[in-house]
Amino acid sequence: MDYIEQSMNRAKNGNCKSDTLFFQALREVLVSIEPLIKKYPEYLHQNVIDRIMVPNRAIHFKIEWLDDDNLIHVNNGYRIQFNNALGPYKGGVRFHPSVNPDILKFLAFEQIFKNAITGLHIGGAKGGSDFDPKAKSDKEIMKFCQAFMAAFYNSLGADIDILGGDIGVGAREVGYLFGKYKQLTNSYDSIITSKPLPLGGSLGRTQATGYGLVYFTQTLLEDKGETLKGKICTISGSGNVAIHAIEKLYDIGAIPVTCSDSRGTIHDSNGIDLELLKKIKLERGASLEYYTLERKNATYVKRENYIQGSSFVWDIPCFAAFPCATQNELGENCAQLLINNDVKIIAEGANMPTTPKAIELFVENKILFAPAKAANAGGVAVSVLEMSQNNSLNYLSFEKVDKRLRDIMSNIYIDLKKTCDEYNLEMDLISAANILGFKRVADAMIMQGV
Ligand code: NAP
Repeated sequence: MDYIEQSMNRAKNGNCKSDTLFFQALREVLVSIEPLIKKYPEYLHQNVIDRIMVPNRAIHFKIEWLDDDNLIHVNNGYRIQFNNALGPYKGGVRFHPSVNPDILKFLAFEQIFKNAITGLHIGGAKGGSDFDPKAKSDKEIMKFCQAFMAAFYNSLGADIDILGGDIGVGAREVGYLFGKYKQLTNSYDSIITSKPLPLGGSLGRTQATGYGLVYFTQTLLEDKGETLKGKICTISGSGNVAIHAIEKLYDIGAIPVTCSDSRGTIHDSNGIDLELLKKIKLERGASLEYYTLERKNATYVKRENYIQGSSFVWDIPCFAAFPCATQNELGENCAQLLINNDVKIIAEGANMPTTPKAIELFVENKILFAPAKAANAGGVAVSVLEMSQNNSLNYLSFEKVDKRLRDIMSNIYIDLKKTCDEYNLEMDLISAANILGFKRVADAMIMQGV
């Protein structure tokens, strides 16, 4: 339909010509919603696409901080408050040298629809900085977090915009960010989630994205008469999402055999040693190459030895593949390798980890595909439980949070299936997720007027 190219051209002719990741995310949504637009042309009359593809507010701020030698450093900080039609802005903060406005704009855009799919009343946002937390002392991390918060705390509020964790931002950083907000505002407002437990964090939040990913995948497979039990699974990444996906895969009797970091990949055909992995990544923050010192039969392949840029993770034959590291990590070559090795399902733990060409190949070959917007929504869902626990002062047990998470992930699947039926999408869960998320946000925008 005409609206796709016309909208893409309008987006590209704006003042953001280099937004390649954002354009990739935008095109996927625009193409996916075609059946919705055909059924309800009202969305075009209301010009909802133009209204949804421009962020409400994009904040760019300077962060000055002192290292342990009292040298002054300057970093860029950003917060993209993309859409708050359904509720206050909500989305994580990423600290990584690759962070730029394009990455955050794509992440915030994806977050709008992911949050809408959960059925919870939250808008979409994302923030971060090009600060590199690697090799920084604890004191330097604290000083950076304090400077980051001081630079834009007045844009936050429990009913305005709520932060969370992402790459490079875990419980320690969240604690420092929260402490500075409290000092500056003299309030204990719930303006950040993924807090450590003593600061009002929720049990089960750390595990939620990885566990939720496995719950969603298992629900989908059970619906198809299949199971992950006893099956070989490959996982990329070795951060929060990957580690907890591996943990839950073991719980349900699957066999996770790979993990990776920015420097290389581990293949352990006996199953990843989870305790060793946690020791290396969570306790020491070290490289995965140390894994083979204790597990002699495992293989470590350095990044520079990957063939044709294809991560070694996807060379390993598996039943289910879980990309849990970063955007566009699973390209065409990797997809072809997985298909040649008879993969049955791809479930996205990271945000937009699969390139459009790779997705095309999976679709052509009828491989089941669990898109990030649905499959990794468990983290944000439990963040909302954290917010409601903070407001009610009624704290839930781990078991209760975990049960709520399982229910939310299975309800998301049910809603996607209904959307597939309504728009004749067969098992195209990517389109179903985009239609469901877009419709909820668009309807709320229309109701609120121009
Ligand atoms: P994290 O704890 O910081 O871990 C990221 C992991 O990915 C690290 O092990 C990192 O390696 C690895 N990595 C980064 N770039 C890589 C590359 N090019 N190839 C292979 N590995 C690479 O982050 P996370 O929270 O797990 O987030 C991972 C993904 O999930 C991101 O896309 C994030 O947006 C998404 N996500 C996270 C949550 C959440 O609740 N945390 C929720 C929804 C979505 P190093 O150790 O070498 O840095």
